Amino acid sequence: MFNFFKKKPPRPVAEAAPQLSLPLFDTAQAPQPGPAGQRLALLRNQPVRWELIRSRRRTIGFQIDHRGLRVSAPRWVSLREIEQALDEKCDWILRKLAEWQRHEQRRLDMQPRWEHGATVRLLGEPLSLRIDTETDGVIRDGALLRVGLPPDAGSEQLKDRVEAWLREQARAIFAERIPVFSQKLGRAPTRWALSSARTRWGSCNPDGSIRLNWRLVHFPHEVIDYVIAHEMAHLAELNHGPRFWSTVGDLFPDYERVRGALRHHYDDTPAS
Ligand SMILES: [Zn+2]
Repeated sequence: MFNFFKKKPPRPVAEAAPQLSLPLFDTAQAPQPGPAGQRLALLRNQPVRWELIRSRRRTIGFQIDHRGLRVSAPRWVSLREIEQALDEKCDWILRKLAEWQRHEQRRLDMQPRWEHGATVRLLGEPLSLRIDTETDGVIRDGALLRVGLPPDAGSEQLKDRVEAWLREQARAIFAERIPVFSQKLGRAPTRWALSSARTRWGSCNPDGSIRLNWRLVHFPHEVIDYVIAHEMAHLAELNHGPRFWSTVGDLFPDYERVRGALRHHYDDTPAS
């Protein structure tokens, strides 16, 4: 999987992933919920909330995601030992927490305001939302997206309508592009589906199925093509070795530039 963050977490953090994903950034597998308690630690003088999960694992593990820091530890490890481990890992923990915070902020920035006149992006193009009582359904009209709703419709209704429409667009675009890459690769996914994963643009399972994030529909065609090519290349190479990247290159020769653009888009450019 490719990471938006430059450094990977230390090895014990992540359990083996059941599938190969194209993450928005790297994230550890969430542990099974168990008896838990919120605690507070002081790391480099910063208060950090964390949750302790007693588990059957043999070592202390750290998971950081949008929910914050969770620490899994065997029952026989004392709280004092866990706090020591937190101290030893504090730079990594603080860095990861800050990265997640930035990520969540970007995610919020990317979410359109759901109101008349706000902007959503389709294939990189801004579309201005118009609540329009005369329109039946959702219709693109040049740079406008007319949404048939009563004038007093709430933002939830607008969001539901527009997201449903964007998913339809995503499904149609993916359905058109997947066969193009299947032909180049000489094999097709066993099935594919839309995902709305929080942290992944796409993923490929060992059973030959792929999932593509419908939010890709906000980005230009080439970004969508790169993600499809990336996941389809995993049908041939379920790893990120040199043969995998050479397959990506066969499917989509310009992948390095677009891969960079995808990071850049996500890191720097709110979609609306
Ligand atoms: Zn991958």
